[in-house]
Amino acid sequence: MSIDFQVGATSGTARLGRLITPHGEVQTPVFMPVGTLASIKGVPQDMVEKLGAEIILANTYHLYLRPGIEQVRKLGGLHRFMSWNRAILTDSGGFQVFSLTELRKLTEEGVSFRSHLDGSTHFLTPETATAAQIGLGSDILMAFDECTEYPAESARTRSSMELTLRWAERSKKYFEEHKHEVPWSSNHMVTATFGCPSERSRQNAGPTEAELCSAGRMRAPAPTSDGMTQALFGIVQGGMDPALRRESAERTIEIGFSGYAIGGLSVGEPRRVTREIVEATVEHLPFNKPRYLMGVGKPEEIVEYANLGIDMMDCVLPTRAARHGLLFTSEGKISIKQARYAGDETPLDPNCGCRVCARYSRAYLRHLYASKEVLAQVLNTIHNLSFYLDTLRAVRHSIELGNRSQFLSGK
Ligand SMILES: [Zn+2]
Repeated sequence: MSIDFQVGATSGTARLGRLITPHGEVQTPVFMPVGTLASIKGVPQDMVEKLGAEIILANTYHLYLRPGIEQVRKLGGLHRFMSWNRAILTDSGGFQVFSLTELRKLTEEGVSFRSHLDGSTHFLTPETATAAQIGLGSDILMAFDECTEYPAESARTRSSMELTLRWAERSKKYFEEHKHEVPWSSNHMVTATFGCPSERSRQNAGPTEAELCSAGRMRAPAPTSDGMTQALFGIVQGGMDPALRRESAERTIEIGFSGYAIGGLSVGEPRRVTREIVEATVEHLPFNKPRYLMGVGKPEEIVEYANLGIDMMDCVLPTRAARHGLLFTSEGKISIKQARYAGDETPLDPNCGCRVCARYSRAYLRHLYASKEVLAQVLNTIHNLSFYLDTLRAVRHSIELGNRSQFLSGK
């Protein structure tokens, strides 16, 4: 078994679900913080856990270039390397490569590109992108796809969608043949030489090792459910054409994946169009599989998409905006750099229960930002992530209560 997904309650088109992964359970709808380089910038893993994140996203392209897939694999996979024992989703690297418009060349086989770090040449294909994600050992992998640009002509959108479908088949074939090679699979666990015996075979574990573990001086291994493997998600493309989206959804489902993502949105189109395409796509996705909308959005948008029946979302916005002093609050967006906050002793968001709002004033946060203190980035990111995670917590609660409309009008 790879993952298990159960819908527990619905309210309109919104669903409350449980996603069981090899590294724990995820309550959906969920927002996944982005840890591009195996790090949520500025926030240590124990804090990300305390904020309640049950799954994070890491970027294959960046980790492929640095520190390299083989290095991470040798270190036991991403969970052990970054000491994050909860679920991880990796993208295929395709989106980043396609954004390197000057540095890439696309063929049927794959995409050759030049590294943004040192200019070295690389070739990413459905097979190598899948191999990279198996080496990283994420719980959920994404099929290698082509993100169609916006705007695009109809013929171009179709040919791009067809290419994504062919690549989806190749991604799946490679995955099925190689998924047992994941660093944390039972085969690999036997050969591993370090880890806490309490969570592994105790056969070779002496008391010293056990003591070290309990003292927290050894890194605990990623706890995995016996027999569970990684899960591969397919990606629906089709540009801004509802008919192509439907065809892409149906043919991707025919190939058969553990979950389905809606890709190719938030690429510059008006928000109204994003919503229309999400709605036009979701209705063709199977009820009993997780649905992942890639790369969205603002807090009010993620609420809207959850209400349309989306189960998983990710976005760099809360973390990136935080580093620029842009903070999301229940009273709207705040630019903490503004001089008017210099003497403001109130909390950043009086309705936020996060540790930043409980302890610090707007005046202090403004001072940290103006002084370029590292702590500004840390505190701002903690608040923004809290705000996103709390927003989804409230959405889940309202679905459970079945009063979605009341929640929305209360916002
Ligand atoms: Zn807060």
